[in-house]
Amino acid sequence: MKIAVYPGSFDPVTLGHYDIIERTSKIFDKVILGVLNNRAKSPLFSAGERVNMLKEVTASLPNVEVQSFEGLLIDFVRQNGAAIIVRGLRAITDFEYELQLAQTNRVIAPEVDTIFLTTNLKYSYLSSSIVKEIAEYDGDISEFLHPAIAARVREKLKERG
Ligand code: ADP
Repeated sequence: MKIAVYPGSFDPVTLGHYDIIERTSKIFDKVILGVLNNRAKSPLFSAGERVNMLKEVTASLPNVEVQSFEGLLIDFVRQNGAAIIVRGLRAITDFEYELQLAQTNRVIAPEVDTIFLTTNLKYSYLSSSIVKEIAEYDGDISEFLHPAIAARVREKLKERG
């Protein structure tokens, strides 16, 4: 069984992420979405909330599973018996960081490969941080997120005041 891990912060999951998830689910037998619980970052949503939002938007994709993880990505990949890491590439600006990450991971775990899916052009400009910024200024985020996720972002920002 070919298992892939697609890791990220997903704070929150955007339609750009979803596009990569859907395409990945057609290539592999099983896809594990790894929600990075990074204590150094201060995300808008907790890891638990991000996991639940991903579960909600991927409910119709039976071979997609969601988990959160802390620590080294490679350890998470190994624990799940996966051999592939999937990342999305939007623009050349993503490339340098992604290349460095992939090469480092390959030194730590030569049996694990990273593959890149290029973004759907429709979403090539889209990032979770831009969406959060627009929402903070009361802008319309419905073009960028699943409706349930857009509602969650608005609620969260209201709670925060
Ligand atoms: P990270 O904090 O690890 O960059 P993100 O949640 O921002 O986590 O992104 C996870 C992965 O999804 C990364 O590989 C990123 O390049 C990719 N990604 C993010 N937004 C898009 C998009 N609009 N189209 C395609 N890939 C994307």
